[in-house]
Amino acid sequence: MSEQATSSGSLFLVVAPSGAGKSSLVNALLEQEPSIKLSISYTTRPPRPNDQHGREYFFTTVEDFIARRNAGEFLESAEVFGNYYGTSRVQIAEQMATGVDVLLEIDWQGAQQVKKQFPHAVGIFILPPSIAALEERLKKRGQDDHDVITRRILAAGGEIAHASEFEYVIINQEFTVALAELSAIVKATRCRFAQQSTRNASLFAQLGIHANLS
Ligand code: GDP
Ligand code: ADP
Ligand code: 5GP
Repeated sequence: MSEQATSSGSLFLVVAPSGAGKSSLVNALLEQEPSIKLSISYTTRPPRPNDQHGREYFFTTVEDFIARRNAGEFLESAEVFGNYYGTSRVQIAEQMATGVDVLLEIDWQGAQQVKKQFPHAVGIFILPPSIAALEERLKKRGQDDHDVITRRILAAGGEIAHASEFEYVIINQEFTVALAELSAIVKATRCRFAQQSTRNASLFAQLGIHANLS
């Protein structure tokens, strides 16, 4: 039996165009569900004023990133808005081995790579209510300069075109509604047979429940 097969945790992939509210929703979810582990990605993007090394990202140079990528350190990596982003393979393996739920906030390219390796990973796409709202949110966030915001808005359509590759779509119009939907997806995933039977192995054995192998 592989390590994955003994783990009762789920892998969540949260994807959205920049400014749709992905980080705000994920941070609010983690306050409700502190047992979920958030993957901290590596990036070559410069830190924003409010970013902290090791909290939002591990900030690094292009040279270091490429060396790590060539050494096979990343579970997935992609170039997004002219910067490199990657998910540490070791970090995810360690988190998943403990059986907790793990959440990746990554782009659609990374989600495709992870899905190939973990077909049961749960893909969630966050949509903004409109492109105008996206633009307004990016401006209001006040963390990126004008050129960066323009670039992200221009890229939004290309990102949104991949929404159909995801099991779940949340429209982040009313924040509390979107958060409740995200929370519902997490709760439903935890009730999947594979997760329940692993987490409650002795109960399932007592009740004589076996996996349907047909
Ligand atoms: P299957 O269960 O026979 O369809 O084979 P899979 O290779 O699809 O899955 C094997 C095991 O890996 C199952 O117990 C799954 O629940 C588990 N698994 C698959 N994807 C994930 C994932 O993304 N995260 C975690 N934690 N387990 C997974
Ligand atoms: P992302 O991580 O997808 O780039 P953020 O979570 O940083 O997006 O959100 C972008 C901005 O939009 C932030 O300033 C955030 O406070 C705001 N925001 C998030 N969700 C909503 C919402 N439902 N309504 C209005 N503003 C929102
Ligand atoms: P930001 O710079 O706004 O934090 O992120 C920009 C984009 O990069 C977002 O679409 C975000 O999902 C994506 N991203 C962040 N971390 C990773 C990662 O580790 N891998 C990939 N593939 N994309 C990432």
